[in-house]
Amino acid sequence: MNLCYCNSEKLFKDCCEPYLKGLKKTPTAEALMRSRYSAYASHQADYLVATTHISQRSNHSREDILLWAISNKWQKLEILKATETTVEFKAYFLDQNKTSQIHHEFSTFKQEEGDWYYVDGQYF
Ligand SMILES: [Zn+2]
Repeated sequence: MNLCYCNSEKLFKDCCEPYLKGLKKTPTAEALMRSRYSAYASHQADYLVATTHISQRSNHSREDILLWAISNKWQKLEILKATETTVEFKAYFLDQNKTSQIHHEFSTFKQEEGDWYYVDGQYF
């Protein structure tokens, strides 16, 4: 029984897995954020492309997403603050040189026809 990558302390199958498999829609921006972190940790670039808002997709190639996902070892997700349409988080990872890094981002999300999408982020 595997705990979810997103540090929810729930089982993967009861947390992000149904979203990654397209079996369920993410109900909130935070749930989408968590599932996108889990997609990075499990190298699911197609999910990351599909959940990026259409207006932003040209800024994020599938190859770049996949390379970023696989070249780092994703250790932990910490949600600092979530509102209806924004999530501030820290993602902890080891880079290619095994150096600890923290990706601190304030992300904006948008819901369209029942689906949540990542729009963009500010980095700290
Ligand atoms: Zn999860």
